[in-house]
Amino acid sequence: MTQPISAPRGAPDILPPDSRLHEQVELGAIDLFRRHGFQRIETPAFEHTELFQRGLSEGSDIVTKEMYTFSDKGDRSLTLRPDMTAPVMRSVIEHNLAAKGLPLKLYYVVPVFRHERPQAGRYRQFTQLGVEAIGSSSPYLDAEVISLAAQVFDAAGIDEVTLKLNSIGHPGCRSEYLPKLVAFLEAHRELLCPDCQRKIEKNPLRTFDCKVPSDIEIMKQAPLISDLLCEACAAHHEAVKDTLAQLEVPFVDAPTLVRGLDYYSRTTFEFTASGLGSQDAIGGGGRYDGLSEMIGGPQMPGVGFGLGLARIVLALKAHGTVPASNVQVYLASFSPDAQRVARSLAKSLRRDGLAVDMDLDGRSGKAQFKAADRSGARLVVAIGDKELAEGIVTVKEMSSGQESTSPLEGLAHRLKELL
Ligand code: AMP
Repeated sequence: MTQPISAPRGAPDILPPDSRLHEQVELGAIDLFRRHGFQRIETPAFEHTELFQRGLSEGSDIVTKEMYTFSDKGDRSLTLRPDMTAPVMRSVIEHNLAAKGLPLKLYYVVPVFRHERPQAGRYRQFTQLGVEAIGSSSPYLDAEVISLAAQVFDAAGIDEVTLKLNSIGHPGCRSEYLPKLVAFLEAHRELLCPDCQRKIEKNPLRTFDCKVPSDIEIMKQAPLISDLLCEACAAHHEAVKDTLAQLEVPFVDAPTLVRGLDYYSRTTFEFTASGLGSQDAIGGGGRYDGLSEMIGGPQMPGVGFGLGLARIVLALKAHGTVPASNVQVYLASFSPDAQRVARSLAKSLRRDGLAVDMDLDGRSGKAQFKAADRSGARLVVAIGDKELAEGIVTVKEMSSGQESTSPLEGLAHRLKELL
């Protein structure tokens, strides 16, 4: 027998009923993005590898370990996007979108690809919901973008979300700070894990991301960039915090939140949710004022975030959220003539905006009520020969079992009242 083929490791199928939760979160997010003035952007799933090598910085984990890179038939090196910020910036530069006026406010809902070790909440293909606001240095934009992410979680129904906020300054602040950090790390080199020892040369800021308990203890004594911000970066950070307070978005200061990519400057943030174990980051982002120049564009500041759709859904499920049903009304019919009427009725009720499903196989009444139950419909509209003769239908409310009759005329209105 031929072996059945399974999906590649770490690339999950999103199946009903969970897919409905994914859809609910996605649609809620898109609605919020649009109400904040963001427009959709789509870019190819693969880009020239160089974009990520330059845009994400060569020493980062994503570039060194996690990219799906391949040569195409023309021997060009291409990479499945591990992130959307660099592709969006590439596209903005390539099409000179800045000429249309700044800031540009763009949103996306796309799969991204990272060759990470799969575990609960960590996949090799996962969907990111995100925005990029490009062309303004205003701290109010940072706050608006952060507030927007918070609203996505709120609309999805996740409570217990923590927003961690930091500033890593501009490159000038970092060149003051990094020698101090490196001196501290060198002084503790022997006590650090091998991975952190390697990071001292390659990417010292990333030592703050280490999960080894003894390293975490050591890093508590490390000098913090937030204590060494220049006046302009400190003022920017204060303005972001004041605006978040004004917008009633609670946050905690997270002076070790560095988000190891070189393109970040000033604001960095991350959202975590309870009930997710070690993969508890449901979204993150920051300001990336240097990115455009890193990939050959003009000086163009930006700020944005990426949220992990699958993790948002896991957080919802951890707190017992069940997906709303797709079907509101189920039509049950008990004779060929009744089914004929039901088919037309389904069409007209759907046109009136109701979500309707029905039996097309002429199954028994019992089987149809079972199917109605499985569909999650709140109402069943039953049509038999008796109803046909009188030009009415029987409406059953599934939760209470209560039945009533209704004329076909005005049925949609009546059903909407009952839903
Ligand atoms: P990052 O840019 O790495 O902070 O990613 C943004 C968000 O995407 C994270 O906060 C997670 O919610 C989500 N995410 C990152 N990596 C993965 C992964 N391997 N699997 C699922 N979701 C992820």
